[in-house]
Amino acid sequence: MANPSILILAGDGIGPEVMGEVKKIITWYGDKRGLSFDVSEDLVGGCAYDAHGTPLTDATMAKAQEVDAVLLGAVGGPKYDKLDFSVKPERGLLRLRKEMDLYANLRPAQCFDALADFSSLKKDVVAGLDIMIVRELTSGVYFGEPRGIHKEGNERVGINTQRYTESEIARVARSAFELARKRNNKVCSMEKANVMESGILWRDVVQEIHDAEYPDVELSHMYADAGAMQLTRWPKQFDVIVTDNLFGDLLSDLAAMLTGSLGMLPSASLGAPMANGRPKALYEPVHGSAPDIAGQGKANPIACILSFAMALRYSFSELAEADRLEKAVEKVLADGLRTADLMGPDGGTPVSTSDMGDAIIAALDASL
Ligand code: NAD
Repeated sequence: MANPSILILAGDGIGPEVMGEVKKIITWYGDKRGLSFDVSEDLVGGCAYDAHGTPLTDATMAKAQEVDAVLLGAVGGPKYDKLDFSVKPERGLLRLRKEMDLYANLRPAQCFDALADFSSLKKDVVAGLDIMIVRELTSGVYFGEPRGIHKEGNERVGINTQRYTESEIARVARSAFELARKRNNKVCSMEKANVMESGILWRDVVQEIHDAEYPDVELSHMYADAGAMQLTRWPKQFDVIVTDNLFGDLLSDLAAMLTGSLGMLPSASLGAPMANGRPKALYEPVHGSAPDIAGQGKANPIACILSFAMALRYSFSELAEADRLEKAVEKVLADGLRTADLMGPDGGTPVSTSDMGDAIIAALDASL
């Protein structure tokens, strides 16, 4: 059988630096675990604009549609700030998300014990936290019509429309239930069914999909405002949270920051299953291209490495190997290794981007 395929789009700024560490780890899996991937690389963002006059060529887009998973670094930088909107680096990323129809955005909030002091919450509230927010990404109030600003009499009126079809709710609900089955088997769905009709439909459809297809998964419903309170009060009560585009935007940022540094946060965006059963998938760190530290060996590669761990889990169903990689990250943090962004009250040993990658590989070796 052919090896699973990965397209690497490292992008701009620290993107290539952090992706360099992921490439070492991909090689390690081939050498040490017999888990080989067909890896190809291409350009996205500012570097693609420099080479081709567009942030994403049609040929790269076509490749992204064919592979089993896309790994993306980051795009953008001051050099490109004055470009026309249509060719800005971010347009490349938006085109990928749109044309691959990546409707489920997965943002884990995971707190490694060694970094529990970085949170603004008390240590016992966040230590050991491991939850997943699934945000609907392609519909809802950011896309609904009518929208715009128009004049009514003497004043302007701004309009956006929250609109969800049953099928849009059903497919993201299925993503959440499937994920829960690979985790702790619990889903909490959040909306505002008390004041919004779209929320009533959301609640009904999630419940229907649950009853018909996933009765083994524990399902609860919560109003999104109460959900925000519960996330800061006792986040460990949750496993998977599924919510719409707007509430997901807010709740995933809130949950992510429970755990500390931007350099630690991975993400995945998943679409419909392909012919081989794997979902269309793009994995990327939450952070941007960090032009302030690019080229200095200061970037923390862990967000990008944990994004690859998500690919192992959600695209390649290598759950034990994903655990192995996450444990290796946990080990180097427990050993006190710290890139500059993680230097906190506990001191620690300062390391460069590549030192951090090498230490994670040493921890992988030690796990065999
Ligand atoms: P940013 O995430 O690039 O950086 C914010 C701060 O966090 C900076 O101080 C940076 O040094 C630090 N940081 C980020 N990632 C880090 C890491 N891995 N290790 C250590 N420190 C890290 O956000 P920004 O400064 O607002 O944006 C910079 C550029 O990135 C802009 O062009 C923006 O449009 C782009 N951007 C791209 C993406 C993406 O590619 N998905 C996301 C956000 C921003």
